[in-house]
Amino acid sequence: MRLKIDITGLVQGVGFRPFVHRLAEEMGLKGYVANTASGVLLEVEGAKETLDDFIVRADKEKPALARIYSLRHAFLEETGFQKFEIRESSAEGEKRALILPDISACEECLSDITNPRDRRFLYPFTNCTNCGPRFTIIHTLPYDRKNTSMKEFRMCPECEREYNLPSDRRFHAQPNACDVCGPKIRLHDCDGKPVCEKEEALEKAVSLLRKGYIIAVKGVGGYHLICDAENDETVCRLRKRKGREEKPMAVMFPNIGSIKKEAYLNVAEERAICSVERPIVIVRKKESATLAKGVSPDNSAVGAFLPYTPLHHMILKKFRRPLIATSANITDEPVAKDEEDAFGRLSGIADYFLSHNRAIVRRCDDSVVRIAAERQVPVRRSRGFAPLPVTVPFGFKKPVLALGPYMNSTIAVGIDDKVFLSQHIGDLDTPLAAGFYEETIADLLRLLDVKPGIVVSDMHPGYYSTKYGERHYGDMLVKVQHHYSHILSCMTENGTPPDNEIIGFAFDGAGFGTDNTVWGGEVLIASYRGFKRAYHLQPYKLPGGDKAVKEPCRTAFSLLYGAFGEKARELNLLPLGRQETDFFINMLKNGVNSPVTTSMGRLFDGVASLIGLAHKVSYHAQAAIALEQAALKSDTADSYPCIVKNNMIYHLPVIDRLVDDLRAGLPKEELARKFHNTIVAMVLHVSGLIRDETGIKTVALSGGVFQNVILLEESFRSLKERGFAPLIHQTVPPNDGGISLGQAVAGHYQFQSS
Ligand code: ZN
Ligand code: ZN
Ligand code: FE
Repeated sequence: MRLKIDITGLVQGVGFRPFVHRLAEEMGLKGYVANTASGVLLEVEGAKETLDDFIVRADKEKPALARIYSLRHAFLEETGFQKFEIRESSAEGEKRALILPDISACEECLSDITNPRDRRFLYPFTNCTNCGPRFTIIHTLPYDRKNTSMKEFRMCPECEREYNLPSDRRFHAQPNACDVCGPKIRLHDCDGKPVCEKEEALEKAVSLLRKGYIIAVKGVGGYHLICDAENDETVCRLRKRKGREEKPMAVMFPNIGSIKKEAYLNVAEERAICSVERPIVIVRKKESATLAKGVSPDNSAVGAFLPYTPLHHMILKKFRRPLIATSANITDEPVAKDEEDAFGRLSGIADYFLSHNRAIVRRCDDSVVRIAAERQVPVRRSRGFAPLPVTVPFGFKKPVLALGPYMNSTIAVGIDDKVFLSQHIGDLDTPLAAGFYEETIADLLRLLDVKPGIVVSDMHPGYYSTKYGERHYGDMLVKVQHHYSHILSCMTENGTPPDNEIIGFAFDGAGFGTDNTVWGGEVLIASYRGFKRAYHLQPYKLPGGDKAVKEPCRTAFSLLYGAFGEKARELNLLPLGRQETDFFINMLKNGVNSPVTTSMGRLFDGVASLIGLAHKVSYHAQAAIALEQAALKSDTADSYPCIVKNNMIYHLPVIDRLVDDLRAGLPKEELARKFHNTIVAMVLHVSGLIRDETGIKTVALSGGVFQNVILLEESFRSLKERGFAPLIHQTVPPNDGGISLGQAVAGHYQFQSS
C-alpha cells in the first residue's frame, strides 16, 4: 500500500529530504519527498509492516536539528511508484503563513523543569521553539510576540538573550518566559478569592486533590475539572455537580506505564497516546482496573491521555496517580476559558481554581481518537490538530465558508488547495454555544484574512447553522445534503481524483433528506459533482420524534410493531406498560408525532433496547455503544437475513429473526454480534450489487455509526477481501465533526457547475 505523510515543523534546511531518501532506499520503498509551504510531504509504497516501521524510524532517526510538530499520515491504495526521488518543491499556491496548533511540551523543556539547577525548575510556562502554545495565544498573524497574549509580559534580560541568540533553543520562541518575567499560577477558593501562588499553589492544589477536592485548572485551550480518578466518592460528586449522569470522562495518567496497568493497548494505541498531538485515546479497560466505577459507568472503554503542558506534567508527577481531566463546562456548553467565565459558571462545581494570568485567546478542547483497522480515526478533531488544513485534490476558485452541521459542530474555510477546519465547537444547543459558534466563524475568517465568495450550509431548515447562513449570507448560501457531505469529506481526505465515482455508505443518527424526511441509512453513488441515492434503509417511524433518541425503547417498539403489527403488544419484550403500548400504537398507526426515518443510528439504538441493553439513555450514542461492547464479547460468525430489493434494504426480517433468538434465550452478546455481522454482510452485498451494475469498486464509509469499531473493521476487511477499495476517515471525524469539510468541497463544485 501507499503511505502518505504530511509533516510540519522545522524540516526545511536541516537535511530532512536527503535523510528520508536514504531511509526509503535502505528499506526498499519507492515514492518521493518534497518541501511544501508548511513543511514536507512524502509518499512511500511497500508492505504495511515496512510502512509502519518507516513511520517510527522517520521520527526516531530524523536529523538532529529537525523538529516535527505534526506528522499526519494515512494509508492509501498504491499507485505504483518506480523509484524514490526528491521532487522539486511545488511553488504553486500562495505561501500562506500557517498557524500551528498548540504543541505538547518537548523532552528538553521537561528536563528543564525537573532539574533543580535549571533556572526554569518547576516553572509551569516553560516552552521553546519546538513546543508550547500557538493557536490558543495568537490574536492575529504574523506570529510575533506582540500579536499574542504574551505581549503583556516583558522579557527579562536572560529570556531576551535566549530569544535573540540563533544557536539557542528559544531563539524567536514567541511565548518564551521564565519565573522572573512570565505568567504565573495562582490558587483561588470557590468564591474566586486568591489563596496562594506559584510553587505553593501547586503544592496546595495537589494536596487538595489527594483529599478528594475538585479543582478547575486553566490549561492551554480552556479549563479542565480535575479530581482523583480512583476516588469513587469524589467522582460521583463531580458527576452530580456537572449534571453528567453517565457520559464517560477522560483520564490523564502520569505516564504510559500507568495507562498500561489500567488498559489494554496495542501498538497503534500506544503511538497515538504518545504522539505530539497528545489526544485522548479511547481504549479498553482491564478487568483489574483501579479507576473509580463512575469514570465510565457500565462502559468497558475509557478515554486515556498523557499530560501535555508543563503544568499538567508537574501536577501528575506530584500526584503520581490518574486524574480525571474533563472539559470544564456544564453539559453541552462550551468549555470555560477565562477567570470571570470560570468563576461564574463553575462555582458550585469546582471547590478551587488553579488559574494563571496568561489569556486564552481562543478555546480549544482536547482531541479524541480511536484506533480501528490499525488506523487512527478521529472522534473529535481539536487541540493539536486545529487549525491545520486538509489538502484537497483540486483548487478553490473562490474562498468557501462551510457552516457545518448542528451536533459536534465545526466550521471550515476552503482556499487554494486547502480546507482549514476550526476547532471543535460542539452542539449548537445553548446561547453560549451559539455565541462560541459565531465567534469562531469571525475568528477563522479574520485569521486567514479571507472574505467568502461562496457560503455553504446543511439542508436542515431547523439547524442553527442553516439559519445563521440565511440571516447573514442570504442569496450566497448553497445548501448541501447532510449524508452527501459525509461522503464528500471521506472522499476528500482520501484524495479521490476529481472525476471518479464512488459508492458511499453514510450511516448516522439523522440528517435532512432531499425528500424532506429524516435520512440516516444511506447508500449513495457519488462524485464531487453530485450524488444519487442508490439504496436506503426501509423507512420506519419514530414514536415521539426526538424523544426516541433519549428513549431507545420507543424505537424498539416501532420495530416490533413494523414486524408483528398489533401482535407486538403480546410479545412482552420491552419494559412498557399497557398504557404506554396503546399510546405508541396509536401514534404509529395514525402517524401522530411519528416522523418517518431511514436512520441506521436509531436502528442500532432500537436493537440495543430489544436485546435489553439500554431502554433509556443520558448521552448521545449510549445505546449503540452498549450494543457494540456486548458484541465484542462474542465471536460468532452468524448473521440474520437482510433482504435488498428495489433500492431498499429491508431490516424488518432481521427483527423477526432476532425476536426468535430472544425467545430461544440466546445470550445477549451473541445477538449483538449477529446484528453487527448482518450490517457488515449488507454493506458487502449492496456494494456487490452496485459494482455489478456500474463497475465502481471504491467504497467510502462515513457517518457517526462508523465510529463503531466492529462495523468499521469488519466492513473494511471484508470489502478489501472481495476486491473493493474501501476508504475510511483518518483526518476528520466520521461523525458530524467532519461535515464542514464535505460542505466546502460541495460548495466549490456547485459554484463551478452553475
Ligand atoms: Zn520545548
Ligand atoms: Zn524571563
Ligand atoms: Fe451525520
